[in-house]
Amino acid sequence: MVVNPAALDYPDAEVGPLVLHEAVHAVTNACAPSYPSWVVEGLAESVASGAYPSVAKDDDQAARDYRAAHGMPERLPDAAEFAADPDSQRTFYALARVAVNEAIARLGEGAAVRMLVSLEAADEARVTTWYLDAMRALK
Ligand SMILES: [Zn+2]
Repeated sequence: MVVNPAALDYPDAEVGPLVLHEAVHAVTNACAPSYPSWVVEGLAESVASGAYPSVAKDDDQAARDYRAAHGMPERLPDAAEFAADPDSQRTFYALARVAVNEAIARLGEGAAVRMLVSLEAADEARVTTWYLDAMRALK
């Protein structure tokens, strides 16, 4: 795991979530580097937001803002969206977190993580349905 030393100058409230997010990437990259971007970023953001309520609050707001500006998504975020400019990336991290958190809410953490790290097309279709339900239900 490598964290840009410049990040250590970030405000305290940002350093902890950043390091935790990147630590999750170290684990997922070690398991299989070819997971879909929404799984990689959604898991990292889910763990970071679970430990830092301010991240959860910001992510929830980003997802609501996305829905208000663009309407309901039709699919999970794709790789191109995660490669966009940093401001847009933040939004897609938040949307991926909605998908991962909904899988965890429906299956429990262990079963959801097992499914996400061995994702098959049928699983992705199920998570897409859950994700769209969760996006619709955001308050
Ligand atoms: Zn990330």
